[in-house]
Amino acid sequence: MEDHHTPDPALKFKPDYKWPEPGTERNCPADPTIPWQLNEYDPAYYGKPWWCFKCQFQFSEEDLAQGITCPNGTPRKAP
Ligand SMILES: [Zn+2]
Repeated sequence: MEDHHTPDPALKFKPDYKWPEPGTERNCPADPTIPWQLNEYDPAYYGKPWWCFKCQFQFSEEDLAQGITCPNGTPRKAP
């Protein structure tokens, strides 16, 4: 009997992130002068909507709802 091969769903899995409205703005909690970049929604893009270039970290609205935010979440003191 032939073993039916089913494609690995992991290869097709695209996380279904809630995408913020265009124009939504958020700032890095570690440095409020740094705005997070909101990536454009693109079906070919598998990443998360928010990108903090300062912390090199991506976020989804789901992450934020869970309190996940920039790893350097405490404000830096001015030099
Ligand atoms: Zn940040």
